[in-house]
Amino acid sequence: MSLYYIKKNKKSSQKENKEPKTKVSNSKPNLVKKLDRIFALYIRLRDVMPNGYVRCISCGQIKRFEDVDCGHFHSRRHMATRFSEENCSAECKGCNRFSADHLIDYQKNLIQKIGKQRFDLLNVKAHSTCHYLDSELEAMIDHYKNEVRKLSSLKGIKVKL
Ligand SMILES: [Zn+2]
Repeated sequence: MSLYYIKKNKKSSQKENKEPKTKVSNSKPNLVKKLDRIFALYIRLRDVMPNGYVRCISCGQIKRFEDVDCGHFHSRRHMATRFSEENCSAECKGCNRFSADHLIDYQKNLIQKIGKQRFDLLNVKAHSTCHYLDSELEAMIDHYKNEVRKLSSLKGIKVKL
């Protein structure tokens, strides 16, 4: 057996060991998690007002960027609207995490924001079935990364990508 053969063989077996790892980090749940994170950053940045502060969609309080979440109207378990820009707005942590009835004001203000017709359509969309391909998730991750970069420099807010 030549030395070349041994070397080559070793190399290819190393590659085989690496492959499952790569697959795990790009698996669908991980892609969804990645997109959740970058999409939330996008929504929070989008909703920063010219004065650098953010208004909570539910209670209307003015908050710092650090103190708001990306609040979903239809919860994240609805995949069809999980990454819908209309379904998401900056929401203070108090409302998003601790208020049981924040959706009452959220609904009222969302109808004002997007209109009753789009609100009704959003309802229909939320309850439809939706499966993303890995390639679609990857494309959305790239898209929102770019948007976050743009908004971050436009609005002068530093974020970790
Ligand atoms: Zn609030």
